[in-house]
Formats: sequence, structure tokens, C-alpha cells
Amino acid sequence: MHKPLLRIPYTDILPSPTTIPSSATTLPGALAALHNFFRSPAPKGLPPSTVVLSGAGLSVASGLADYRGDKGTYRVNKTYRPIYYHEFLSSHEARKRYWARSFLGWSSLHNAKPNSGHHAVRDLGELGLVSSVVTQNVDSFHPRAHPDLPTLELHGYLRATVCTSCWNEYPRDTFQDELARLNPVWAAFLKEVVASGALATEDPDEKRAKGIRMNPDGDVELPEAPYTTFRYPACPHCLAHPPTLADGSRGLVEVDHEGAWSHSNTAGILKPAVVMFGESISHKVKQTAEEAVDNAGRMLVLATSLATYSAWRLAKRAKDRGMPIAIVNLRGVRGEDTFFANMDPQQTGAEGVRVEMSTENLLPTLVDELRRTQTPGTNALPGPAVSLKQSNGAVFKDMLS
Ligand SMILES: [Zn+2]
Repeated sequence: MHKPLLRIPYTDILPSPTTIPSSATTLPGALAALHNFFRSPAPKGLPPSTVVLSGAGLSVASGLADYRGDKGTYRVNKTYRPIYYHEFLSSHEARKRYWARSFLGWSSLHNAKPNSGHHAVRDLGELGLVSSVVTQNVDSFHPRAHPDLPTLELHGYLRATVCTSCWNEYPRDTFQDELARLNPVWAAFLKEVVASGALATEDPDEKRAKGIRMNPDGDVELPEAPYTTFRYPACPHCLAHPPTLADGSRGLVEVDHEGAWSHSNTAGILKPAVVMFGESISHKVKQTAEEAVDNAGRMLVLATSLATYSAWRLAKRAKDRGMPIAIVNLRGVRGEDTFFANMDPQQTGAEGVRVEMSTENLLPTLVDELRRTQTPGTNALPGPAVSLKQSNGAVFKDMLS
């Protein structure tokens, strides 16, 4: 079966958007439009709930870089090229480099927290207005900010590693301890960097000034670093029970006396539990994402340019189902005219909204506004949305466990 692979997205700057409705260029105008978006009845035959589709821009206020913003990875670092899945699988050297950078980047990501944008999504869930979230982000800020609102992490999550032979998952935290134990010089260096405050600051400029450049997928760039000395462990399960390979032979999984990977190994490679470029999204995740769209009557797109096809096609699916779409994103979104085609030019938000504002300020204000106008006793969605939450909850939980 042909499986579409995650590709490096379109990295050029997209054209500036047209604000919809035209009154939504000011904060009161944007709030009124989004208020209408949420409070108007869903189109005939569609459920009353809203699915959120979010991207990297939502985590910028948590100190992470996005891709296309003013300080985004594609603008600041023109030569940025993430690692490909096949490279990671086939090259011990590539894995050393990846894990060294990830080792330094982890503490920063680990200490970062969800921001007011994520908490506003939680509040929209509590108001009964949002029923589920599909995110492209791998930082797990959504499930941390709203554990009771189902979240599907479309591109996986950095909070775990996964074995590419037995598919067991392990917490990234304990993996970090293992990396520190196997690489004492790097661990000492990391301590120094932490002490310098370069990782503690949430200001990307300050981070950069202190010699650290962090990418959205949690790795850090250090020019001239001796990556080749870096050591990493093998999958503990495969080490104890070497797996059978595709050709029927027994895989080789060995470590040195301290527990570091042996270069002759043929199985037991641990990778971050994210979908790497050149890797395909699992059928189950794709299906669950489509269900999240199909079980909603509207889509709220937050802080993403939808440059990645796996996310863009979900918005297209929403449009094809006749769902009103609201997009809140600074700068352009890939092919966004498609999502606002055939709309009544006089509509005031019920059919679609396009706002060019940052989520961390707009969304909390929107929540206040929606709370103020909430009719008492209507904060729960009628039947279908509640059962969606229950039925999907198990699927989401299953995927996150
Ligand atoms: Zn394994």
C-alpha cells in the first residue's frame, strides 16, 4: 500500500491574508467575528462542536521557535534541515548528532510550559465550545494544559522514545538520565549552559545571544560540537530479547560495558516518538484525526500556516464537509482562499473568520467574552458532542499511553 510520507513543508513565506470579515482587523472586530463563529448554529446536519487544529505558532509564547514567524527557524536559519527517518535508521553517526542536540535541547523543552493560548483552548472546552484538538506540535503542551479535552498529536510527541524494532515506548526523561550517564562531559557542559541562564530564559533572542539556537522539534544547534563522541543506549527490551528481523534471522543488540550502543547492532534503535520527515503517519492516527474532523461542525485553525500536507488536508476535509473555518494566524496560510470560497460577502463570522493576530492575547480575551455572553445552563453540548468526547476519549487515551 502506498503511504504518503511526511515531507519537508513549503518553506517560503506565504502571501499576506485577507481579513474576514473586513471588520476583524481590530481586536473588538476580531472578537465579534469569533463570537459569531462560535455562537451561530452549526450548518444543517453538522454537530454543534468545534475541532481545533493547531501548530507551532501556539507555542512561541512558551519560548519555542516556530517555522515562519519573524524569529522562526526558516527565517533565522536558512540552512535548517531536519533529520530524515531513513538517515536516522541507517546511520549511527546521524543518531549521535541527533541525540547530542536533543540532549541539550530537552531540558529547555522540559522546563517550558503551556501558555495562555493553550489554557484558552482548555477554557473553550470547558465552555462546551471545543470538543477535541488535533495538533501538529510535538511539545505536549495541549495534553498538559487540558488533560480532559481529547488531543490528538498528529506528528507524535517528544515526551517519549520508541523502539523501531519492538515499538515499546519509554519516557524521554529517563532516557535523558541515561544520556547524561553515558556522556559525562556533555552533561557537565549542559550544566554550565543551564547555569549561564541560556536555557532558563523564555526569550528566544536572549537564548541566541548566549549561543543557543533552539528549533521547534526540541533540538539545539551548537557550531563545532564534537557530536561523534556522543553515546546513546539501545532499547532495553530488545537488549534482553533480541528481535527477529524481516529476513527471519535474529537481530544483534549489544552494548558496551557502560551500556552504550554497539555500532554492529542490527536492531533495537530508539527514536523520538515523533513522525520524522520521510516517515509516514500511522493509519490509526490519520483515521483518528479524520474522525475528529467528521465529529465536529466547525474548525478553528490556530497558529499554523498549514504548510504540512497532513494538516492542510484536514482543513480541506472540513471545508469539503461544509464546516465553517476560522483561522487565527500571524501571516499567510497555505492556499487559504480555498477555505473561504463561496461565502456570503456580508457574513459576519458564522461562515468563516480570518484573523491575523497572535493567539496568546486574542484567545483569553475571546474566552472572557464568550463566558460573559454564555446563557446559564448551556455550558454543555447536546448529545452527540458528549458522546464524541466519550467515544474518542478511549481512542486518544489508547494512542497516548
Ligand atoms: Zn525494542
